[in-house]
Amino acid sequence: MIRFNSVHKWFKDLHVLNDINLEVKAGEVVVVCGPSGSGKSTLIRTVNQLETISQGEIWVDGVNVADPKTDLNALRAEVGFVFQHFNLYPHLSVLDNITLSPIQVKGMDKAAAEARAVQLLEKVGLAHKKDAFPAQLSGGQQQRVAIARGLAMDPRVMLFDEPTSALDPEMIGEVLKVMKDLALSGMTMMVVTHEMGFAREVADRVVFIDHGQVLESAAPAEFFSAPRTERAQQFLRQVL
Ligand code: ADP
Ligand code: MG
Repeated sequence: MIRFNSVHKWFKDLHVLNDINLEVKAGEVVVVCGPSGSGKSTLIRTVNQLETISQGEIWVDGVNVADPKTDLNALRAEVGFVFQHFNLYPHLSVLDNITLSPIQVKGMDKAAAEARAVQLLEKVGLAHKKDAFPAQLSGGQQQRVAIARGLAMDPRVMLFDEPTSALDPEMIGEVLKVMKDLALSGMTMMVVTHEMGFAREVADRVVFIDHGQVLESAAPAEFFSAPRTERAQQFLRQVL
C-alpha cells in the first residue's frame, strides 16, 4: 500500500530523511518511533505530500505521490491524516467538521454526508456531540472527532502523527481504543507514537528512526525484547 524507495529529504543543508526504504502492506499497522527531531513527522507527512521529498520515490496504492502530475486532493482523500493538535475547524460544529471534505472534495450530498458522519461519530462514541463546537470538547473527544473526520473520506490509509501527545493522561486510552478498533477493522495505518503499549499490542511492525535513517524494522516482540542497535536500546530505556 505504501512504499518508500531510497527517499531523501533536505531542509537546506539538514539531511532530514536519509535513504528511507520502507514498505507498509495493505492492512498492516506500522508504528514509527524514535527520538525527538529524528524525522518522524517529516517521514509520515511525505506520504500525503504535506512535505515534498528531495529524492527517491513514494508509492501509495499504485500512485507515485511525488510526481508533479499527482492530484493531491485525490491523494489526500485516500490517505487520512490525524495531527497531534487535532486541527479541527473551530468555527464549525462537529458534524460540519466531518462533512466538509466529503461535500466539498467528493461532491457528496449533504444528507448522505451527515448520515455517514453520524455513523462515524457512533463508532468513536461521540454521536451525542454532533452539534457541539470543538472548544466545547475535551482533547480526547476532539481527537476522536478528528479521526472520524479522516475516516469520512473513506481512506485506504490512515496516518497518525503523535495523536495522543497533546492529551491529558486520562484521555489517552480512549483515543488509543478508537485506533485499535480501526486497526482491527483492517485499516492500513502508519502511526508515529511514543505509546509503546500500543505498539506492542497493535502494531505488526515497529520502525525505529534516528537522524533520518531507519535503524530497525521488526515485529514488536522482537523490537522490544532484542533491539539490535545501541540507539534503539537507549531510546527504549527512556520511554519504557
Ligand atoms: P520528529 O517528528 O521526529 O520530532 P521532524 O520530522 O519534525 O522530527 O524534524 C526533523 C528535523 O527536521 C528536525 O531537526 C527539525 O528541526 C527539522 N525540520 C522539521 N521541519 C522543518 C522545516 N519546515 N524547515 C526546516 N527544518 C525542519
Ligand atoms: Mg514530530
